[in-house]
Amino acid sequence: MKIGLEIHVQLPTRSKMFCACPTDGVAPNSAICPTCLGMPGARPSLNRSALEMGLRLAKLFDCRIPERTWFSRKTYFYPDLAKHFQVTQYDNPVGEHGVFDFRGKPIRIRRVHLEEDPGRIKRVGRQGEEMSLVDYNRSGIPLVEIVTEPDLSNPAEARQFLTDMLTEIRHTIGLSDENEQSVRVDCNISVGVERVEVKNVTGLRNMERALKYEVVRQTKMLRSKKTVVRETRRFDEERKVTLPARKKEFEEDYGYIGEPDLGVYNIRAIAESLDEKETPLTRAKRLCEEYGMTEGISRQLINTSMDLCDLFEDMAAAAGTKASLYLVTDVISSNWSRIKGILDEDLRSEIIEVARRYSDGSVNDLEARRLLRALFSDEEEDTGSTAKGDPALLEAAVEKAVSANPGIFDDYAKNEKAANRLIGDVINSTKGAFSSQEIVLKVKERLERGP
Ligand SMILES: [Zn+2]
Repeated sequence: MKIGLEIHVQLPTRSKMFCACPTDGVAPNSAICPTCLGMPGARPSLNRSALEMGLRLAKLFDCRIPERTWFSRKTYFYPDLAKHFQVTQYDNPVGEHGVFDFRGKPIRIRRVHLEEDPGRIKRVGRQGEEMSLVDYNRSGIPLVEIVTEPDLSNPAEARQFLTDMLTEIRHTIGLSDENEQSVRVDCNISVGVERVEVKNVTGLRNMERALKYEVVRQTKMLRSKKTVVRETRRFDEERKVTLPARKKEFEEDYGYIGEPDLGVYNIRAIAESLDEKETPLTRAKRLCEEYGMTEGISRQLINTSMDLCDLFEDMAAAAGTKASLYLVTDVISSNWSRIKGILDEDLRSEIIEVARRYSDGSVNDLEARRLLRALFSDEEEDTGSTAKGDPALLEAAVEKAVSANPGIFDDYAKNEKAANRLIGDVINSTKGAFSSQEIVLKVKERLERGP
C-alpha cells in the first residue's frame, strides 16, 4: 500500500497574497479589491511575508531551493474564481526534493509551493429552490501546498506523520491556530497498482477515515478481481465514505502559463538570510537526551508550549532536572493556561526560586506546590485545577490501575490510546482530587517507563 499527501495550509499573514486586503474579513465580500477579483488594471504584488514563510518551510524540509522562482496561472472556470485563473506555482516552486524525518523513517517531499485560495461558494435555500452565493473574501488568501512522495504505508501512519509535520509547520511559520480543521489534504492511495485521489479532506481525523475507507474498498475490489480505476473521489463527512467526484483532470488540462503581472524573484538569497530556530521535534529529542526524560513527557511539553520548555530549562539550570521536571509536569503544566498569560521575568525568577528551595530540601513537594499555586493565582486558589491531593496518592492510584489492567503496557505500545483506560480508572478512583491534566501526565509517564 502506498499513500502520498498533498497538504494545504493557510499562511498566517495579515494581508492577502497579492494585494493589501485583510485576511480576516468576516462579512461576505467585505475584504475584496480589484486585484483579488482580477479586474482590468489589477496590479498584484507579492506579499513578502508569505514568500518568507514558504521559504522557511522549504528549508524545514531540506528542500532544494532554486535561485529564482515565479508564479503561473492555472486556468479553469468556476464561479468561485472571479478571474478564471488561480495564481499558483508550476515550475520552479520555492522548494523541491526535500525530506521529513518521521520518527526515523525518511518521507520524501516532492515540492513546496505557494498559491492563492479561490473564493467560497455557499448553497442556500430549500430543496428544489437552492441558490449559490459566492464570497470572495477568501480569494487571494495565501496558502502553501506541500506534496509528499507516496512513502507512507498505512492510514494510521499517515495521520501520525501529518500530526508531527503540523507540529513543525505551526512553529516554523507562527501558526497559532490549533484548529485542525484549517488543514486541507488531498490523499493519494493505491492498494494495488492504480492510484485513487481523495480530494479536499478537512482535518486529521477525516483524513484517516477517508484513507481507511479506501483501503477496505480497494482491497475488496481487488479480492473479487475487479479493477480499481484511477479516479478522483471526495469524502462525505456525514456518511464517512468516499464517493466518485468529477472525472480526473490531468495537469496539462489546466494550460498553465507564466503569470505576466508578477516578476521573477531571487529567492535563494532570501532563504539564506532567514534564521533557523530549533523546531519542536528537534527540541523534544534534545530534551530526552539532555535531561533523560521520556519521549511521552518531552512531547507533552512541546505540545503544551515552547515557552513551557524554556521555563523548564531555566529551572533545570538553577535547580537541577529532577525537581524541575517534577514541578513542571505537575503543578506548572496543570496551571499553564493561566501562567502563560502572566509569565514575566519576575514570575520566572520566583518560580525558579521555589524550584531551587524544593531541590535543596528547604521545602517539601506539598509546600512547593502550594507556593507555586499562590504565585499563579491573584486571589483564591486556582479553580481550574483541583490539584490539592498528595502526589503519593496519585502515584498509588496509578499503580492500582496498572495492576487492574493486565496487558496495558503491550496495548499501549501498540496504540497510545490504551492510556485512556488507565486515565479513566484513575479519575474515578481519585474522585476529583487531581486535575485531569495531572492524571494524564502521570499515567503517560508511568506507561512510558514500562512494566
Ligand atoms: Zn484584494
